[in-house]
Amino acid sequence: MLLLSAHHLGVMPLALSGSVNTILRFLVPVYRSCQRGEPHLVAFAITEPGAGSDAEEGHGAAAYRPGVVATPTIGGYLLNGRKCYISGGDLAKTATVFAALHSEGMESWTCFYVDCDAPGFKVVRTELKMGMRASGAAEIEFTDVFVPNDRIIGGLRKGWALNRATLNASRIPVASMGVGFARAATETALEFARRYTLGGKALIHYQDVQLHLATMVAETRAIRSLVWEEARDAWQPRQLNASLCKFHATDRAQHVCEMAMDLLADHGGLHEQKLEKIFRDVRLTRIFEGTNQINRLSLIEDWQDQLMNFDQGIGV
Ligand SMILES: Cc1cc2nc3c(=O)[nH]c(=O)nc-3n(C[C@H](O)[C@H](O)[C@H](O)COP(=O)(O)OP(=O)(O)OC[C@H]3O[C@@H](n4cnc5c(N)ncnc54)[C@H](O)[C@@H]3O)c2cc1C
Repeated sequence: MLLLSAHHLGVMPLALSGSVNTILRFLVPVYRSCQRGEPHLVAFAITEPGAGSDAEEGHGAAAYRPGVVATPTIGGYLLNGRKCYISGGDLAKTATVFAALHSEGMESWTCFYVDCDAPGFKVVRTELKMGMRASGAAEIEFTDVFVPNDRIIGGLRKGWALNRATLNASRIPVASMGVGFARAATETALEFARRYTLGGKALIHYQDVQLHLATMVAETRAIRSLVWEEARDAWQPRQLNASLCKFHATDRAQHVCEMAMDLLADHGGLHEQKLEKIFRDVRLTRIFEGTNQINRLSLIEDWQDQLMNFDQGIGV
């Protein structure tokens, strides 16, 4: 799941570049290659050592110190620095890499379409993380990686807006991961309650277990409805809606997974029950594509014009 969604994230700046030429030249060949059965993964690289949230949320921009810098040279730019936690970065053929221009700040952010086999591009390591381990979280080092001018995506110094547009489009899919985890946890708990016996009867016959399960089902269905509701307008993504959907669905999904753990008790911690894997995986959806705290700030940021307009009432 993360391999595919990280690829989706990687191609999104190409799709949202506003340039038909970019789409035909770079995006279409990716899909043609996949169609031929030759996977072409694209990674999305914004996070830097010392700048995760700063790359996701405007409040941090003033204090931002670039982790990857693009220096002009003849015919293009040289990239130097490091990106970290890049999903699929160890397998990707190309990457959309966001970098600040030399001696400028975040306002100069520009998206570069980088070949992962270019000289100077190196995967330093992949992290041993708690969940979603099928997708490598790679640390990438750039040493004078040359990117020609015609591989600048969306325009010079237009990277911040492109990054925000990408995240607005990709946060609802993260919310849907939460729905999937909540559903899997609820179904596992239901199955367990039907089969596991205590005091001579199946767990499901105990009324407090029924109350517990009813809450899990309601929580799962509620976040599924939320995702469907927000997905309806996903063709015109908006920061407020995407952020709200992401943080709420993944927070509630983790709560549902904890409830399943409560019910399965010692069985929940066993690897064969699969719940412990769901439990480890769901936690990560609250961290990537902006921590849920940052997504809450994003909601308020997007809403501030209305919040600060005291001539009008405010509706939720
Ligand atoms: C599994 C996984 C996959 C990932 N995949 C990718 C990927 O493909 N590409 C990519 O670029 N990145 C990726 N990331 C990185 C991810 O987006 C960052 O980890 C995330 O944005 C948080 O940044 P950080 O870890 O640097 O935390 P920090 O920014 O250091 O934040 C630390 C804490 O401070 C809080 N905080 C920070 N700023 C503020 C503020 N202004 N106000 C209040 N609280 C604040 C945060 O909420 C958090 O609790 C991935 C991460 C994970 C775990």
